[in-house]
Amino acid sequence: MELTFLGGARTVTGSRHLVDTGRARVLVDCGMFQGGPDETMRNRVPLGVDPATLDAVVLTHAHLDHCGLLPLLVREGFRGRIICTAATAELARLVLLDSARLQEEFAKRAARRGRRDPGRAAETEARDEKAFDEVVKLAAAGAEAPGGPDPEELLRAAGPIVELGLEEPLYTEDDAGATLPLLLTIPYGSEHEVAQGIHVTLVDAGHILGSSIVRMRLTAPGGGRDTIVVFSGDLGRPGTPILRDPTTMSEADVVLCESTYGGREHEAAEAAIAKLAEVVGEAARKKGVLLIPSFAIGRTQELVWELGRLVEAGRIPELPLYLDSPMAKAASDIYRAHPEAYDEETATLLRDHHAPLDYPGQHVVQNAQESERIARANPPYIIIASNGMLTGGRSVGHAERMLDDPKATILFVGYQGEGTLGGHLMRGAERARINGRDMPVRAAIRSLDGFSAHGDEPELLGWIGGFIKGRRPGDPGVPAKVYLVHGDPPAQEAMAPKVAALGLSVEVPAWHQTVPLG
Ligand SMILES: [Zn+2]
Repeated sequence: MELTFLGGARTVTGSRHLVDTGRARVLVDCGMFQGGPDETMRNRVPLGVDPATLDAVVLTHAHLDHCGLLPLLVREGFRGRIICTAATAELARLVLLDSARLQEEFAKRAARRGRRDPGRAAETEARDEKAFDEVVKLAAAGAEAPGGPDPEELLRAAGPIVELGLEEPLYTEDDAGATLPLLLTIPYGSEHEVAQGIHVTLVDAGHILGSSIVRMRLTAPGGGRDTIVVFSGDLGRPGTPILRDPTTMSEADVVLCESTYGGREHEAAEAAIAKLAEVVGEAARKKGVLLIPSFAIGRTQELVWELGRLVEAGRIPELPLYLDSPMAKAASDIYRAHPEAYDEETATLLRDHHAPLDYPGQHVVQNAQESERIARANPPYIIIASNGMLTGGRSVGHAERMLDDPKATILFVGYQGEGTLGGHLMRGAERARINGRDMPVRAAIRSLDGFSAHGDEPELLGWIGGFIKGRRPGDPGVPAKVYLVHGDPPAQEAMAPKVAALGLSVEVPAWHQTVPLG
Protein backbone atom coordinates (compact mmCIF):
# COMPACT_ATOMS: atom_id res chain seq x y z
CA MET A 1 0.00 0.00 0.00
CA GLU A 2 1.34 3.42 -0.90
CA LEU A 3 0.55 7.09 -1.06
CA THR A 4 1.73 9.50 -3.78
CA PHE A 5 1.64 13.28 -3.39
CA LEU A 6 0.51 14.41 -6.83
CA GLY A 7 -0.22 17.98 -5.76
CA GLY A 8 -0.34 20.33 -2.78
CA ALA A 9 3.22 19.19 -2.00
CA ARG A 10 5.57 22.06 -1.07
CA THR A 11 2.95 24.43 -2.46
CA VAL A 12 -0.49 25.56 -1.27
CA THR A 13 -2.53 24.61 -4.32
CA GLY A 14 -3.18 21.68 -6.64
CA SER A 15 -4.23 19.28 -3.88
CA ARG A 16 -4.14 15.69 -5.18
CA HIS A 17 -3.17 12.57 -3.21
CA LEU A 18 -3.21 9.04 -4.57
CA VAL A 19 -3.87 6.04 -2.34
CA ASP A 20 -2.95 2.75 -3.99
CA THR A 21 -3.64 -0.40 -1.97
CA GLY A 22 -2.71 -2.83 -4.75
CA ARG A 23 -6.38 -3.83 -4.89
CA ALA A 24 -7.83 -0.36 -5.47
CA ARG A 25 -6.76 3.20 -6.26
CA VAL A 26 -8.46 6.28 -4.88
CA LEU A 27 -7.57 9.92 -5.33
CA VAL A 28 -8.24 12.40 -2.55
CA ASP A 29 -8.96 15.77 -4.21
CA CYS A 30 -8.03 16.74 -7.75
CA GLY A 31 -7.23 20.41 -7.47
CA MET A 32 -5.94 23.03 -9.82
CA PHE A 33 -2.60 24.72 -9.27
CA GLN A 34 -3.18 28.46 -8.92
CA GLY A 35 -1.03 31.53 -8.43
CA GLY A 36 1.94 32.66 -10.51
CA PRO A 37 2.82 31.32 -13.99
CA ASP A 38 5.14 28.64 -12.54
CA GLU A 39 2.30 27.27 -10.48
CA THR A 40 -0.33 27.26 -13.21
CA MET A 41 2.09 25.53 -15.59
CA ARG A 42 1.96 22.54 -13.22
CA ASN A 43 -1.59 21.94 -14.44
CA ARG A 44 -0.08 20.95 -17.80
CA VAL A 45 2.22 18.33 -16.30
CA PRO A 46 1.07 14.71 -16.67
CA LEU A 47 -1.41 13.82 -13.94
CA GLY A 48 0.87 11.07 -12.60
CA VAL A 49 -1.89 8.49 -12.68
CA ASP A 50 -3.94 6.98 -15.48
CA PRO A 51 -7.45 8.26 -14.67
CA ALA A 52 -9.07 5.16 -16.19
CA THR A 53 -7.43 3.01 -13.50
CA LEU A 54 -8.88 5.02 -10.60
CA ASP A 55 -11.79 3.52 -8.68
CA ALA A 56 -13.01 6.73 -7.06
CA VAL A 57 -12.16 10.28 -6.04
CA VAL A 58 -12.92 11.66 -2.59
CA LEU A 59 -13.40 15.43 -2.61
CA THR A 60 -12.73 17.40 0.59
CA HIS A 61 -14.33 20.67 -0.54
CA ALA A 62 -15.29 22.82 -3.50
CA HIS A 63 -12.41 25.31 -3.69
CA LEU A 64 -10.77 25.27 -7.12
CA ASP A 65 -7.39 24.21 -5.73
CA HIS A 66 -9.06 21.02 -4.46
CA CYS A 67 -11.59 20.20 -7.23
CA GLY A 68 -10.44 22.23 -10.26
CA LEU A 69 -8.86 19.43 -12.32
CA LEU A 70 -11.74 16.96 -11.98
CA PRO A 71 -13.00 17.75 -15.51
CA LEU A 72 -9.51 17.06 -16.85
CA LEU A 73 -9.51 13.72 -15.03
CA VAL A 74 -12.84 12.87 -16.66
CA ARG A 75 -11.64 14.07 -20.06
CA GLU A 76 -8.66 11.71 -19.65
CA GLY A 77 -10.83 8.68 -18.95
CA PHE A 78 -11.94 8.68 -15.28
CA ARG A 79 -15.34 6.94 -14.98
CA GLY A 80 -15.66 6.31 -11.23
CA ARG A 81 -17.65 8.24 -8.63
CA ILE A 82 -16.61 11.46 -6.89
CA ILE A 83 -17.57 11.21 -3.23
CA CYS A 84 -18.38 14.41 -1.27
CA THR A 85 -21.01 16.08 0.90
CA ALA A 86 -24.19 17.51 -0.63
CA ALA A 87 -23.12 21.14 -0.08
CA THR A 88 -19.73 20.42 -1.66
CA ALA A 89 -21.42 18.90 -4.72
CA GLU A 90 -23.55 22.02 -5.22
CA LEU A 91 -20.63 24.40 -4.76
CA ALA A 92 -18.36 22.25 -6.96
CA ARG A 93 -20.92 22.41 -9.78
CA LEU A 94 -20.71 26.22 -9.61
CA VAL A 95 -16.92 26.29 -9.42
CA LEU A 96 -16.27 23.77 -12.20
CA LEU A 97 -18.67 25.28 -14.74
CA ASP A 98 -17.21 28.73 -14.05
CA SER A 99 -13.66 27.43 -14.31
CA ALA A 100 -14.38 25.69 -17.64
CA ARG A 101 -15.92 28.87 -19.04
CA LEU A 102 -12.81 30.85 -17.97
CA GLN A 103 -10.53 28.20 -19.49
CA GLU A 104 -12.30 28.53 -22.84
CA GLU A 105 -12.29 32.34 -22.64
CA PHE A 106 -8.55 32.51 -21.89
CA ALA A 107 -7.80 30.17 -24.78
CA LYS A 108 -9.88 32.26 -27.19
CA ARG A 109 -8.22 35.47 -26.02
CA ALA A 110 -4.75 33.92 -26.40
CA ALA A 111 -5.62 32.80 -29.92
CA ARG A 112 -6.82 36.32 -30.81
CA ARG A 113 -3.62 37.83 -29.42
CA GLY A 114 -1.60 35.27 -31.40
CA ARG A 115 -3.28 36.32 -34.64
CA ARG A 116 -2.71 40.02 -33.92
CA ASP A 117 0.93 39.71 -32.88
CA PRO A 118 2.49 36.43 -34.04
CA GLY A 119 5.98 37.52 -32.94
CA ARG A 120 4.95 38.02 -29.35
CA ALA A 121 2.89 34.85 -29.37
CA ALA A 122 5.95 32.87 -30.43
CA GLU A 123 7.91 34.45 -27.57
CA THR A 124 5.20 33.54 -25.07
CA GLU A 125 5.11 30.01 -26.44
CA ALA A 126 8.87 29.63 -26.07
CA ARG A 127 8.67 30.93 -22.48
CA ASP A 128 5.78 28.59 -21.69
CA GLU A 129 7.64 25.61 -23.09
CA LYS A 130 10.67 26.39 -20.96
CA ALA A 131 8.48 26.76 -17.85
CA PHE A 132 6.79 23.48 -18.74
CA ASP A 133 10.14 21.67 -19.00
CA GLU A 134 11.12 23.08 -15.60
CA VAL A 135 8.03 21.81 -13.83
CA VAL A 136 8.28 18.40 -15.52
CA LYS A 137 11.82 18.16 -14.12
CA LEU A 138 10.54 19.13 -10.68
CA ALA A 139 7.89 16.41 -10.81
CA ALA A 140 10.45 13.86 -11.97
CA ALA A 141 12.80 14.81 -9.11
CA GLY A 142 10.01 14.22 -6.59
CA ALA A 143 9.23 10.88 -8.16
CA GLU A 144 12.89 9.89 -7.82
CA ALA A 145 12.75 10.46 -4.06
CA PRO A 146 13.16 7.21 -2.11
CA GLY A 147 10.40 4.73 -2.83
CA GLY A 148 9.12 6.65 -5.82
CA PRO A 149 8.11 5.18 -9.15
CA ASP A 150 10.33 5.34 -12.19
CA PRO A 151 9.97 8.89 -13.59
CA GLU A 152 9.93 7.59 -17.16
CA GLU A 153 7.06 5.33 -16.32
CA LEU A 154 5.29 8.19 -14.58
CA LEU A 155 5.43 10.37 -17.67
CA ARG A 156 4.30 7.52 -19.90
CA ALA A 157 1.33 6.84 -17.64
CA ALA A 158 0.20 10.40 -18.22
CA GLY A 159 -1.20 9.81 -21.67
CA PRO A 160 -2.90 12.40 -23.81
CA ILE A 161 -2.38 15.45 -21.60
CA VAL A 162 1.18 15.94 -22.84
CA GLU A 163 -0.23 16.42 -26.32
CA LEU A 164 -2.54 19.14 -25.11
CA GLY A 165 -1.12 22.41 -26.42
CA LEU A 166 -0.08 24.86 -23.73
CA GLU A 167 -2.47 27.45 -25.18
CA GLU A 168 -5.45 25.04 -25.28
CA PRO A 169 -8.05 25.19 -22.50
CA LEU A 170 -7.31 22.59 -19.81
CA TYR A 171 -10.89 21.47 -20.29
CA THR A 172 -14.16 22.71 -21.70
CA GLU A 173 -17.67 23.31 -20.39
CA ASP A 174 -18.60 19.92 -21.90
CA ASP A 175 -15.89 18.23 -19.80
CA ALA A 176 -17.20 19.99 -16.69
CA GLY A 177 -20.73 18.96 -17.65
CA ALA A 178 -19.61 15.33 -17.96
CA THR A 179 -18.04 15.52 -14.47
CA LEU A 180 -21.15 16.60 -12.57
CA PRO A 181 -23.16 13.33 -12.91
CA LEU A 182 -20.24 11.48 -11.27
CA LEU A 183 -20.64 13.39 -7.98
CA LEU A 184 -22.03 11.07 -5.30
CA THR A 185 -23.02 12.70 -2.03
CA ILE A 186 -22.75 11.15 1.42
CA PRO A 187 -23.62 12.70 4.79
CA TYR A 188 -21.06 13.60 7.44
CA GLY A 189 -20.20 10.87 9.92
CA SER A 190 -21.18 7.65 8.13
CA GLU A 191 -18.68 5.21 6.65
CA HIS A 192 -18.88 4.16 2.98
CA GLU A 193 -16.80 1.66 1.04
CA VAL A 194 -15.75 3.76 -1.99
CA ALA A 195 -13.55 1.05 -3.53
CA GLN A 196 -12.65 -2.50 -2.56
CA GLY A 197 -11.22 -2.34 0.94
CA ILE A 198 -11.24 1.49 1.10
CA HIS A 199 -13.78 2.84 3.58
CA VAL A 200 -14.32 6.58 3.85
CA THR A 201 -15.91 8.77 6.51
CA LEU A 202 -16.28 12.53 5.99
CA VAL A 203 -16.38 14.81 9.03
CA ASP A 204 -16.77 18.60 9.16
CA ALA A 205 -13.56 20.58 8.53
CA GLY A 206 -15.20 23.97 9.27
CA HIS A 207 -13.43 25.61 6.32
CA ILE A 208 -16.27 26.41 3.89
CA LEU A 209 -19.79 25.05 3.62
CA GLY A 210 -19.67 21.27 3.14
CA SER A 211 -15.92 21.02 3.71
CA SER A 212 -14.61 17.73 5.05
CA ILE A 213 -11.76 15.99 6.77
CA VAL A 214 -11.41 12.51 5.24
CA ARG A 215 -10.92 9.46 7.46
CA MET A 216 -9.91 6.52 5.30
CA ARG A 217 -9.87 2.96 6.66
CA LEU A 218 -7.90 0.53 4.54
CA THR A 219 -8.59 -3.12 5.22
CA ALA A 220 -5.82 -5.67 4.82
CA PRO A 221 -6.67 -8.42 2.28
CA GLY A 222 -5.70 -11.24 4.64
CA GLY A 223 -7.78 -9.86 7.51
CA GLY A 224 -4.85 -8.17 9.25
CA ARG A 225 -4.99 -4.84 11.07
CA ASP A 226 -6.73 -1.91 9.33
CA THR A 227 -4.71 1.15 8.36
CA ILE A 228 -6.26 4.54 9.11
CA VAL A 229 -5.23 7.54 7.02
CA VAL A 230 -6.61 11.00 7.88
CA PHE A 231 -6.54 13.81 5.30
CA SER A 232 -7.15 17.19 6.93
CA GLY A 233 -8.23 18.88 3.68
CA ASP A 234 -8.28 22.59 4.46
CA LEU A 235 -8.92 23.16 8.16
CA GLY A 236 -11.09 26.08 9.23
CA ARG A 237 -10.72 28.24 12.31
CA PRO A 238 -12.58 27.44 15.49
CA GLY A 239 -15.20 30.17 16.05
CA THR A 240 -15.69 31.04 12.36
CA PRO A 241 -19.16 32.51 11.82
CA ILE A 242 -21.87 30.32 10.26
CA LEU A 243 -19.74 27.14 10.21
CA ARG A 244 -19.05 24.50 12.84
CA ASP A 245 -15.55 24.17 14.28
CA PRO A 246 -13.15 21.68 12.63
CA THR A 247 -13.74 18.19 13.99
CA THR A 248 -11.14 16.98 16.49
CA MET A 249 -9.61 13.66 15.49
CA SER A 250 -7.68 11.36 17.79
CA GLU A 251 -6.60 8.19 15.98
CA ALA A 252 -4.72 7.45 12.77
CA ASP A 253 -1.73 5.59 11.40
CA VAL A 254 -0.87 8.33 8.92
CA VAL A 255 -2.02 11.97 8.87
CA LEU A 256 -1.81 14.49 6.05
CA CYS A 257 -2.20 17.98 7.50
CA GLU A 258 -2.45 21.27 5.66
CA SER A 259 0.13 23.92 6.59
CA THR A 260 -0.95 27.09 4.74
CA TYR A 261 -0.35 29.26 7.80
CA GLY A 262 2.60 27.39 9.29
CA GLY A 263 4.72 29.82 11.30
CA ARG A 264 1.96 32.41 11.44
CA GLU A 265 -0.71 33.54 13.85
CA HIS A 266 -3.96 35.24 12.89
CA GLU A 267 -5.28 38.19 14.80
CA ALA A 268 -8.16 37.21 17.08
CA ALA A 269 -11.55 37.16 15.37
CA GLU A 270 -12.88 39.86 17.70
CA ALA A 271 -9.95 42.17 16.85
CA ALA A 272 -10.56 41.60 13.13
CA ILE A 273 -14.23 42.49 13.51
CA ALA A 274 -13.32 45.67 15.44
CA LYS A 275 -10.88 46.61 12.67
CA LEU A 276 -13.51 45.93 10.02
CA ALA A 277 -15.89 48.29 11.88
CA GLU A 278 -13.13 50.91 12.06
CA VAL A 279 -12.40 50.73 8.30
CA VAL A 280 -16.11 50.98 7.42
CA GLY A 281 -16.44 53.96 9.80
CA GLU A 282 -13.45 55.66 8.16
CA ALA A 283 -14.90 55.15 4.66
CA ALA A 284 -18.18 56.67 5.84
CA ARG A 285 -16.41 59.73 7.28
CA LYS A 286 -14.25 60.20 4.17
CA LYS A 287 -17.36 59.68 1.99
CA GLY A 288 -15.24 57.30 -0.03
CA VAL A 289 -15.60 53.95 -1.71
CA LEU A 290 -14.55 50.88 0.25
CA LEU A 291 -13.56 47.95 -1.96
CA ILE A 292 -13.18 44.55 -0.33
CA PRO A 293 -11.72 42.04 -2.82
CA SER A 294 -12.84 38.66 -1.58
CA PHE A 295 -13.02 34.99 -2.49
CA ALA A 296 -16.52 34.26 -3.75
CA ILE A 297 -17.05 31.16 -1.67
CA GLY A 298 -16.78 31.24 2.09
CA ARG A 299 -15.05 34.55 2.80
CA THR A 300 -17.75 36.67 1.12
CA GLN A 301 -20.57 34.98 3.03
CA GLU A 302 -18.72 35.46 6.35
CA LEU A 303 -17.99 39.11 5.60
CA VAL A 304 -21.57 39.87 4.61
CA TRP A 305 -22.74 38.11 7.76
CA GLU A 306 -20.33 40.08 10.01
CA LEU A 307 -21.21 43.41 8.34
CA GLY A 308 -24.89 42.61 8.91
CA ARG A 309 -24.22 41.89 12.61
CA LEU A 310 -22.20 45.16 12.93
CA VAL A 311 -25.10 47.18 11.47
CA GLU A 312 -27.54 45.36 13.74
CA ALA A 313 -25.38 46.19 16.77
CA GLY A 314 -25.16 49.85 15.73
CA ARG A 315 -21.37 49.63 15.43
CA ILE A 316 -21.25 50.82 11.80
CA PRO A 317 -23.53 53.04 9.71
CA GLU A 318 -25.63 51.15 7.18
CA LEU A 319 -23.72 51.96 3.99
CA PRO A 320 -25.04 50.54 0.71
CA LEU A 321 -23.26 47.30 -0.10
CA TYR A 322 -22.75 46.10 -3.66
CA LEU A 323 -22.15 42.38 -3.89
CA ASP A 324 -20.42 42.25 -7.26
CA SER A 325 -19.64 38.63 -8.00
CA PRO A 326 -22.04 36.33 -9.82
CA MET A 327 -20.36 33.37 -8.19
CA ALA A 328 -20.58 34.85 -4.69
CA LYS A 329 -24.30 35.41 -5.23
CA ALA A 330 -24.82 31.82 -6.36
CA ALA A 331 -22.67 30.56 -3.46
CA SER A 332 -24.74 32.63 -0.99
CA ASP A 333 -27.88 30.93 -2.37
CA ILE A 334 -26.26 27.54 -1.70
CA TYR A 335 -25.27 28.66 1.83
CA ARG A 336 -28.89 29.65 2.46
CA ALA A 337 -30.08 26.23 1.26
CA HIS A 338 -27.92 24.27 3.73
CA PRO A 339 -28.81 25.27 7.30
CA GLU A 340 -27.92 21.70 8.36
CA ALA A 341 -24.26 22.69 7.95
CA TYR A 342 -24.48 25.75 10.23
CA ASP A 343 -23.06 25.88 13.72
CA GLU A 344 -25.41 26.06 16.71
CA GLU A 345 -24.98 29.81 17.20
CA THR A 346 -25.97 30.70 13.64
CA ALA A 347 -28.83 28.22 13.61
CA THR A 348 -30.18 29.73 16.85
CA LEU A 349 -29.76 33.30 15.61
CA LEU A 350 -31.56 32.54 12.37
CA ARG A 351 -34.34 30.66 14.17
CA ASP A 352 -34.94 33.02 17.08
CA HIS A 353 -34.21 36.44 15.58
CA HIS A 354 -34.98 35.65 11.97
CA ALA A 355 -31.75 37.42 11.13
CA PRO A 356 -31.16 37.04 7.41
CA LEU A 357 -27.90 35.60 6.10
CA ASP A 358 -27.60 38.87 4.16
CA TYR A 359 -26.66 42.45 4.84
CA PRO A 360 -29.71 44.74 5.06
CA GLY A 361 -28.78 47.27 2.34
CA GLN A 362 -27.33 44.80 -0.11
CA HIS A 363 -27.47 45.26 -3.89
CA VAL A 364 -26.67 42.15 -5.84
CA VAL A 365 -25.00 43.18 -9.08
CA GLN A 366 -26.37 41.16 -11.98
CA ASN A 367 -24.06 41.88 -14.91
CA ALA A 368 -20.93 43.66 -16.12
CA GLN A 369 -22.84 46.81 -17.14
CA GLU A 370 -24.33 47.10 -13.66
CA SER A 371 -20.85 46.56 -12.25
CA GLU A 372 -19.50 49.54 -14.18
CA ARG A 373 -22.49 51.68 -13.17
CA ILE A 374 -21.52 51.31 -9.48
CA ALA A 375 -18.84 53.96 -10.11
CA ARG A 376 -21.63 56.52 -10.68
CA ALA A 377 -23.25 55.91 -7.28
CA ASN A 378 -22.79 58.44 -4.50
CA PRO A 379 -20.14 57.42 -1.98
CA PRO A 380 -19.78 56.30 0.72
CA TYR A 381 -20.56 52.71 -0.15
CA ILE A 382 -19.00 49.26 0.08
CA ILE A 383 -18.20 46.91 -2.81
CA ILE A 384 -17.41 43.26 -2.20
CA ALA A 385 -16.08 41.75 -5.42
CA SER A 386 -14.03 38.74 -6.42
CA ASN A 387 -11.40 37.74 -6.92
CA GLY A 388 -9.66 38.26 -3.62
CA MET A 389 -6.09 38.83 -4.85
CA LEU A 390 -6.96 41.31 -7.65
CA THR A 391 -5.63 38.93 -10.29
CA GLY A 392 -8.87 38.92 -12.29
CA GLY A 393 -12.62 39.26 -12.06
CA ARG A 394 -14.75 42.30 -11.26
CA SER A 395 -12.57 43.42 -8.33
CA VAL A 396 -9.83 44.46 -10.80
CA GLY A 397 -12.16 46.82 -12.69
CA HIS A 398 -13.13 48.53 -9.44
CA ALA A 399 -9.51 48.79 -8.34
CA GLU A 400 -8.64 50.40 -11.67
CA ARG A 401 -11.36 53.03 -11.19
CA MET A 402 -10.45 53.91 -7.60
CA LEU A 403 -6.77 53.26 -7.00
CA ASP A 404 -5.73 56.89 -7.60
CA ASP A 405 -8.62 58.26 -5.47
CA PRO A 406 -7.34 59.40 -2.04
CA LYS A 407 -10.82 59.03 -0.53
CA ALA A 408 -11.02 55.38 -1.52
CA THR A 409 -9.99 52.39 0.58
CA ILE A 410 -9.06 48.87 -0.47
CA LEU A 411 -9.40 46.38 2.34
CA PHE A 412 -7.74 42.98 1.90
CA VAL A 413 -9.22 40.21 4.01
CA GLY A 414 -7.22 37.22 2.84
CA TYR A 415 -3.82 35.90 1.89
CA GLN A 416 -2.23 37.88 -0.98
CA GLY A 417 0.10 35.74 -3.07
CA GLU A 418 3.54 36.89 -4.16
CA GLY A 419 3.43 38.64 -7.50
CA THR A 420 -0.32 39.38 -7.46
CA LEU A 421 -1.59 42.97 -7.62
CA GLY A 422 -2.96 42.49 -4.11
CA GLY A 423 0.47 41.33 -2.93
CA HIS A 424 2.18 44.38 -4.45
CA LEU A 425 -0.32 46.81 -2.90
CA MET A 426 0.00 45.14 0.50
CA ARG A 427 3.77 45.58 0.32
CA GLY A 428 3.33 49.31 -0.28
CA ALA A 429 3.62 49.70 -4.06
CA GLU A 430 3.39 53.40 -4.98
CA ARG A 431 2.33 52.86 -8.55
CA ALA A 432 0.33 50.16 -10.23
CA ARG A 433 -0.43 49.15 -13.79
CA ILE A 434 -3.87 47.77 -14.54
CA ASN A 435 -4.99 46.82 -18.05
CA GLY A 436 -2.05 48.78 -19.46
CA ARG A 437 -2.89 51.93 -17.46
CA ASP A 438 -0.17 53.16 -15.13
CA MET A 439 -1.41 55.06 -12.07
CA PRO A 440 -0.28 56.27 -8.67
CA VAL A 441 -1.66 54.45 -5.64
CA ARG A 442 -3.54 57.12 -3.65
CA ALA A 443 -6.25 54.95 -2.10
CA ALA A 444 -5.74 53.79 1.48
CA ILE A 445 -4.61 50.15 1.57
CA ARG A 446 -5.74 48.24 4.66
CA SER A 447 -5.78 44.59 5.58
CA LEU A 448 -7.01 42.21 8.22
CA ASP A 449 -6.16 38.57 8.53
CA GLY A 450 -8.63 37.45 11.19
CA PHE A 451 -11.09 36.40 8.48
CA SER A 452 -8.97 33.57 7.22
CA ALA A 453 -10.81 30.38 6.31
CA HIS A 454 -7.68 28.49 7.44
CA GLY A 455 -6.50 27.76 10.94
CA ASP A 456 -3.26 29.50 11.92
CA GLU A 457 -0.26 27.61 13.27
CA PRO A 458 -1.43 27.29 16.89
CA GLU A 459 -4.82 26.09 15.64
CA LEU A 460 -3.24 23.57 13.25
CA LEU A 461 -0.94 22.32 16.02
CA GLY A 462 -3.98 22.08 18.29
CA TRP A 463 -5.69 19.84 15.76
CA ILE A 464 -2.60 17.65 15.21
CA GLY A 465 -2.12 17.49 18.99
CA GLY A 466 -5.44 15.61 19.19
CA PHE A 467 -3.66 12.58 17.73
CA ILE A 468 -1.21 12.21 20.62
CA LYS A 469 -2.99 13.81 23.56
CA GLY A 470 -2.39 11.81 26.72
CA ARG A 471 -0.46 9.11 24.85
CA ARG A 472 3.10 8.42 23.79
CA PRO A 473 4.68 7.78 20.38
CA GLY A 474 4.14 4.13 19.48
CA ASP A 475 0.90 3.87 21.49
CA PRO A 476 -2.08 2.54 19.54
CA GLY A 477 -3.80 5.32 17.55
CA VAL A 478 -0.78 7.63 17.58
CA PRO A 479 0.23 8.26 13.95
CA ALA A 480 3.54 6.80 12.80
CA LYS A 481 3.88 9.72 10.41
CA VAL A 482 2.47 13.21 9.86
CA TYR A 483 2.95 14.66 6.37
CA LEU A 484 2.69 18.42 5.99
CA VAL A 485 0.95 19.33 2.73
CA HIS A 486 -0.76 22.44 1.24
CA GLY A 487 1.92 24.87 2.34
CA ASP A 488 4.75 26.93 0.92
CA PRO A 489 8.19 25.65 1.98
CA PRO A 490 8.93 28.48 4.51
CA ALA A 491 5.62 27.81 6.30
CA GLN A 492 6.32 24.09 6.36
CA GLU A 493 9.89 24.51 7.60
CA ALA A 494 8.57 26.70 10.43
CA MET A 495 5.87 24.26 11.41
CA ALA A 496 7.59 20.88 11.07
CA PRO A 497 9.81 21.18 14.19
CA LYS A 498 6.76 22.12 16.28
CA VAL A 499 4.93 19.00 15.12
CA ALA A 500 8.04 16.99 16.00
CA ALA A 501 8.05 18.64 19.43
CA LEU A 502 4.59 17.16 20.04
CA GLY A 503 6.31 13.76 19.82
CA LEU A 504 5.21 12.95 16.26
CA SER A 505 7.35 11.94 13.31
CA VAL A 506 6.88 14.59 10.63
CA GLU A 507 7.86 14.88 6.98
CA VAL A 508 7.39 17.42 4.17
CA PRO A 509 6.89 15.34 1.02
CA ALA A 510 8.06 16.43 -2.41
CA TRP A 511 5.76 16.79 -5.40
CA HIS A 512 5.19 13.32 -6.97
CA GLN A 513 6.95 11.55 -4.09
CA THR A 514 5.60 8.11 -3.13
CA VAL A 515 5.69 6.77 0.43
CA PRO A 516 4.59 3.42 1.91
CA LEU A 517 1.30 3.25 3.84
CA GLY A 518 0.78 0.98 6.83
ZN1 LIG B 1 -10.00 25.62 0.60
